[in-house]
Order: sequence, then C-alpha cells, then structure tokens
Amino acid sequence: MKAQPKASHFIDGDYVEDVAGTPFESVYPATGEVIARLHAATPAIVEKAIASAKRAQKEWAAMSPTARGRVLKRAAEIMRERNRELSELETLDTGKPIQETIVADPTSGADAFEFFGGIAAAGLNGDYIPLGQDFAFTKRVPLGVCVGIGAWNYPQQIACWKGAPALVCGNAMVFKPSENTPLGALKIAEILIEAGLPKGLYNVIQGDRSTGPLLVNHPDVAKVSLTGSVPTGKKVAGAAASDLKHVTMELGGKSPLIVFDDADLESAIGGAMLGNFYSTGQVCSNGTRVFVQKGIKQKFLARLKERTEKILIGDPMDEATQLGPMVSKAQRDKVLDYIEKGKAEGATLLTGGGIPNAVSGEGYYIQPTVFADVTDSMTIAREEIFGPVMCVLDFDNEQEVIERGNATEFGLSGGVFTTDITRAHRVVDQLEAGTLWINTYNLAPVEIPFGGSKQSGFGRENSLAALEHYSELKTVYVSMGKVDAPY
Ligand code: NAD
Repeated sequence: MKAQPKASHFIDGDYVEDVAGTPFESVYPATGEVIARLHAATPAIVEKAIASAKRAQKEWAAMSPTARGRVLKRAAEIMRERNRELSELETLDTGKPIQETIVADPTSGADAFEFFGGIAAAGLNGDYIPLGQDFAFTKRVPLGVCVGIGAWNYPQQIACWKGAPALVCGNAMVFKPSENTPLGALKIAEILIEAGLPKGLYNVIQGDRSTGPLLVNHPDVAKVSLTGSVPTGKKVAGAAASDLKHVTMELGGKSPLIVFDDADLESAIGGAMLGNFYSTGQVCSNGTRVFVQKGIKQKFLARLKERTEKILIGDPMDEATQLGPMVSKAQRDKVLDYIEKGKAEGATLLTGGGIPNAVSGEGYYIQPTVFADVTDSMTIAREEIFGPVMCVLDFDNEQEVIERGNATEFGLSGGVFTTDITRAHRVVDQLEAGTLWINTYNLAPVEIPFGGSKQSGFGRENSLAALEHYSELKTVYVSMGKVDAPY
C-alpha cells in the first residue's frame, strides 16, 4: 500500500488503532488505486484524544509564549526540509499536481507555523488601562481544547492554519481531516512531536460526518473551527451553539471576479484561470462568476479559450502537469451534473465540458470548462460547483455589476481587474465579502486575514486576527484605595 500510515489516529504522541471503527479506504484520485486502509474513530478513540488534549493543555499554557513559539518555528523548518516528501503525500491524498503541492501546500502550512511561532513573544500581550489611581490590565488566555475539522482541498494547509494559532495561544487541538484526504494531517502531528511539542497537544483522529458531531458535542471542547460547505457549517455552528462554544466557520463561496474594459487583458485572463482551475477548481475562494464588461467580451473569450485549451492535464506526479483529477468520483459526478445543467439552461459551452480523452485509466479527471453567456438566474451561476468550471457573465456598467456581484447568499471573496485605481477602490468597498483582490486573485499569504462574510462564515484565519479566535481576554481591575460603599 503506497501511503499506509502506521495506524489511523495520532494521539498523545503516537499512532493508535482501534479496529472496531468503521473501515474506509484512501484512494489516489489519479488512478483510483487504494493507497491506505484506515478506521474511523470509535467513541473510545474520541474520548482518548480529548482526554489527552485536556491533560496536556494546562502545562502548555503555563509555558512562556517564546518557548511555545520555538516549537512551532522548528516545525516550520522540518516541514520545509521535507517539502518534497510532504508534497508527494499531498498529491497522493488529493490528486493535485506536484507542480502545485510543491509550492502551495506544505509550504503554506510551514508559513503558518513560522508566522505564529514568530509573533508568539510579542503578539500575546495584554493591555494596561489607567483609571486614575486605580488601573486594570488584560491577559490573553487560551480557550482550552479546540477542535479542527478539515475539508479535502488543502488538507495539510488546513491542518496547519488551524493548528498554529491554536497552539501558540496555549490551546490543545484535536483535528479531524476530511475522510477523503486522511493522510497529511497525521504527518503534521508527527512533525510537531519531532519539533518538541509535548504529547497530546495536537491529536489527529479519522472519520466522516458521523464522527464530527462526537467532537463538536463533547463537553470538554471549548472551540470548533470548521472548513467545509455551508450546509455542514450550519449544522456544526448549530450544534456548537447549544453549549455556546466558540466557532470559526470557513465555508463555501460563489465569488464575483469583475473585469472592466480597461483591464490588462492577459492579467485578467490569467487571474480568472488561476481563480477557477488551480487545484482543479477545488478552492473555496474561487472567482467562479467572472463578470466581463461588454466592450472586451469577444477578445476576452477568444484568448481565454485559447489559453484554457493549452492546459496540460495528466499524471499529477509529472512536474509538467498543470491540472490533476478531482478528489473523488462523487465530486466529479457532481461537477458533470452541473455542466449538464449549464447546457440545459442555455449557457454557451465555450470549451471543455467532459472527461478528457488524453488521460486513460480510472482517475477522476475532468476538462477545464468555460461557459459564456451565463445569466444570474442559471443554476451554475448561483450554486458552488467546486470544480474547474468557469462561468462568464456580461455586464454594462459599474453599479450594475456591483449589485449583481452581491446578489448571492455567499460572501467569501471577490476581485476586480481595472487600471482605474479609484474605480478599483470604489468597487471593492461595495462588494460584500471577507477577502478582495485588486488586479490579482486568490493570493492568501499568512500575513493577511482570510475568511468570509454572509453565509460564507465568520471568524478569520491567519494574521494577528486569528489570535482573537483562539483566545479570550481576561480583565483584572485593581483598586489602589478603600471600597466606598453607601451602606
Ligand atoms: P463538507 O462540508 O462536506 O465536509 C467538511 C468536513 O466536515 C469534513 O471533514 C466532514 O467529515 C465534516 N463534517 C461533515 N458533516 C459534519 C457534521 N455534521 N459535524 C461535524 N463535522 C462534519 O466539505 P468538503 O466537501 O470536505 O469541502 C468542500 C467545501 O469546503 C466547499 O464548500 C468549500 O468551499 C469549502 N471550503 C472552504 C474553505 C474556506 O476557507 N472558506 C476552504 C476550503 C474549502
């Protein structure tokens, strides 16, 4: 078995198995080959993971932030040293081409450990508040045991983006990766131990939608951070609300990417392609509604078609490959269904639309697909497809496109391509989304906050903002005089 881990779960510093858990297979999406056999967590495994996290957390929280940060920075170094090995594992887990995983997956996870490790010494201070002769001060205190639940598109990055801020604030984390991509998070847990993290502070357990609630409903869990779809987010936030647990929700989107007549055409097309085809379109912040101003529509579509048809689809382990398969057969079938709906509802299929001939075998490949003449009411313009399907819509003027861009329940991201700087700022000011880009798309370095508004979620990952979501303030009022009571 190509990628069989020592056991399914990683708890208290070691691999743990419980064969009573429901067996499941990990499949390499490029070939359909089974690469690992695992078991979902039983209630006993969940208890063990949470109990070990709870035990370890208090001592960790009592360490100085600098000492905690040192461990995270060492983990970042190890991840960079092993980038090739981790990227190959990420490719096996997800099917994403090595050309991408080698620059975007373990490296962005390492960035999170490096960033949060680096700010540990200065970023967790409280405030001193003068009150005449009295004063108050605030302390930033950890929440306790945090649960992370991941999606399958960026398994290693998600494991680190949640783990790094949780740990630096003095929390413990129990992480459940997606059942489609169970492998990467186990390696992250191993690396953290090697970097010096005390046992129990970062545990990984496997399972699917029936395992998640065991974590979310557990009374010893203080916080849940989910990366997943909007329907899952509603269930998880609802369950967490019954105990008033803290939550961060990183959910789906249907983001507008707006291209004005005056835009640099090749950049705008490049941005639209990256924002629809990278990771085979399985990116939450993708600009899947590409609004193109009518004056450049024909030129835009002609060059887009030409460039899209040159994308190299193939073996993800070949460094030349630019587009790999989808994560699973179920996901590909879902995307093919959307393509059929697009055709049936009258959109023009500009290119793609099916399974590529060039790639033989059992992989879950799909062609990069572009629909033109898409209108706001079509299903493909309203629902998140989560595959390499770009919808191009036409527009006439600025106010119209802002209103249409905002006419969605989602609010994750958005982008604008124009050389008119005042217009660029006017537009992003009015778009209802958590992250916006001007003249680029989908860049999410660890220094900037990332997250959604409206039904795309709440809370922010990355940047100093993430610290707010893994800690809370304790305020201490100090009196320097006597108590003046009227009775
Ligand atoms: P999903 O919602 O099906 O599953 C996400 C995770 O939640 C999985 O680990 C799953 O096992 C778990 N889960 C499902 N039901 C649960 C429940 N009731 N209780 C607890 N856990 C439960 O999502 P997916 O198909 O894995 O990922 C794709 C979705 O994730 C897309 O909608 C995409 O936009 C979104 N996403 C968002 C971001 C972001 O940062 N905003 C990033 C990546 C993906």
